[in-house]
Amino acid sequence: MPVPEINTQYLLDILIKLLNTPSPTGLTDNATDLVEKMLMPTKGMSFSRTRKGALVVKWDGDQKDTPRALTAHIDTLGAMVKMIKPSGRLMLTRIGGFNWNTVEGEGCCILASNGAFIRGTILLNKASSHVYDGQEIQDTKRNDENMEVRLDARTVNRAETETLGIRVGDYVSFDPRVEVVEGFIRSRHLDDKACVAVILAVVKCLSDAGLKPAQTTYLHFSNYEEVGHGAAAGIPGDAHELVVVDMAAVGEGQASDEFHASICIKDSSGPYHHGLSQKLRVLADLHKIPYVTDIYPHYGSDGEAFWRSGGDVAVALIGPGVDASHNYERTHIEALLATANWVAAYLLDGD
Ligand SMILES: [Zn+2]
Repeated sequence: MPVPEINTQYLLDILIKLLNTPSPTGLTDNATDLVEKMLMPTKGMSFSRTRKGALVVKWDGDQKDTPRALTAHIDTLGAMVKMIKPSGRLMLTRIGGFNWNTVEGEGCCILASNGAFIRGTILLNKASSHVYDGQEIQDTKRNDENMEVRLDARTVNRAETETLGIRVGDYVSFDPRVEVVEGFIRSRHLDDKACVAVILAVVKCLSDAGLKPAQTTYLHFSNYEEVGHGAAAGIPGDAHELVVVDMAAVGEGQASDEFHASICIKDSSGPYHHGLSQKLRVLADLHKIPYVTDIYPHYGSDGEAFWRSGGDVAVALIGPGVDASHNYERTHIEALLATANWVAAYLLDGD
């Protein structure tokens, strides 16, 4: 069945909204609520949350003998207050896998446990070129000890920072700095909000056309992927197939780029399910979807988290190419549309 046209403006609008809703791993409820709100009007859907906070949507299909599942993750990289320094500035601990150099100079928000939002900037503790020797600045290791948050609030000691409501253990989100230029989307956290937006756009595309999936399909919006156990729970046991929709790794030696969807055949945890990967490739060829096959050298997915927790299901991984992942990322609308068309083709495929 041909795939109805994806609404590009809707895809971009919801993506920007998601990117501007902070959701570091562990503090994802606002973003998850937004996803649920967007899906709520769709006919034939029922909603539940796992106890650890993932959103699971059951979407009734034409058939229900071999249910399918899609997963994408709403959680992102972030940080947490490790210590309030005697200077009143903050030492952080990282949430998820990234290097400090990727957020040096970035604006951030302290999501204080009392509900306050306090703005600040992540800086090297020897930030000023007019105070510190250039070589010393260059040689200073970017690590937990040497990076700090300068708060946009009048505080010069621990007590004053505490008065703002900040405590050890408070979450810190990084400014996404979303910009859309010439079809490129440049932002932090395209991993994996790009794919969450893709799934929402596919749902809208099908439901606007009065269509439903060929098989009953579970949509799992994972909230602990960046720390490795997101989809370890929450994929219903009767699912026969699980398609993970997550970013493709772009860089030297990679086949992936910002203009194609990718299918990952193997990553750090080994090969994906051959049969399901082949089925997706046949579908992509049939629908003339621009895609590449690739291998990701430093990558693990929520599908493997589910496999490791005992999930007995065929797993494949597709997604848009994202440049500079876990850094200031970028992709192109062409990769998002390719992924959306692929997901839609899969949902509509009656085998
Ligand atoms: Zn991801």
